[in-house]
Amino acid sequence: MKDYSSHIAIIGAGISGLTLGCVLKQSGMPVIIFEKSSTASEQGAGISISPNGLRVIKNIGIENELRSESGNPKEVQFFYNQNKLTSFPVDIVTTSRQCLYKNLLNKYLSLGGEILFDHEVSSINLTDPSISFSNGSSFNVNHIAACDGIKSKCRSLIYKDAEQPAYSGYSVWRGILEKNQTENHIHLGPNFHIVTYPIDNTRTSFVAAVKNSKRDRGVMEN
Ligand SMILES: Cc1cc2nc3c(=O)[nH]c(=O)nc-3n(C[C@H](O)[C@H](O)[C@H](O)COP(=O)(O)OP(=O)(O)OC[C@H]3O[C@@H](n4cnc5c(N)ncnc54)[C@H](O)[C@@H]3O)c2cc1C
Repeated sequence: MKDYSSHIAIIGAGISGLTLGCVLKQSGMPVIIFEKSSTASEQGAGISISPNGLRVIKNIGIENELRSESGNPKEVQFFYNQNKLTSFPVDIVTTSRQCLYKNLLNKYLSLGGEILFDHEVSSINLTDPSISFSNGSSFNVNHIAACDGIKSKCRSLIYKDAEQPAYSGYSVWRGILEKNQTENHIHLGPNFHIVTYPIDNTRTSFVAAVKNSKRDRGVMEN
């Protein structure tokens, strides 16, 4: 079995895991990503990347590829009851999550990055850093970086009394429409808002957030 004891182990090959993997590989650090899924795939609709995120994208060296396949809105416009309230200039890239994911994955692999699929973390030892997986394997590693998402198993393993994600009282829908739009639109309402932005030259992503009357602080179900 391969020795990863000098490696930084990243848990999760999502957007954050792949981004960290690229940065560490470019710094010459030995890295291994462990991913619970069997293949690389991405769900979701659009994603809006603001200037701080763009700095990371630029440093990784995928800004041009990303911009060429994405929406590059120059303005955000605010509406109420279909009437335009105001607008201001923005420097953001709006894209599909698939496009961002594909570019990060390609970059990580082109840097010689390695991903071990079908490796779902089941326990972590921080004293003598090692990770065990539900497939029965375990590895000693140098450091562990938890990038395993909002319902992080790593967080619950390390912080036994960690707070669980709680429902905020907002329900959100996302989707992609076959529609050409050049600016970002934000529609404000009394108990909702809708954000739409171009993810490329032919498609627009929308996010609709509705505030429910009953605010339930229970654990999120999905
Ligand atoms: C269905 C869905 C749709 C979404 N759509 C959008 C959207 O359209 N736009 C947007 O901006 N945000 C969206 N989000 C929010 C999303 O959580 C973040 O935008 C983003 O994915 C966070 O990136 P991440 O890398 O931190 O986590 P994730 O993308 O969740 O990646 C975590 C990775 O870790 C892996 N993993 C989890 N547990 C383990 C384990 N125990 N062992 C090993 N690997 C593990 C997962 O398989 C996954 O590959 C969506 C979330 C979900 C769940």
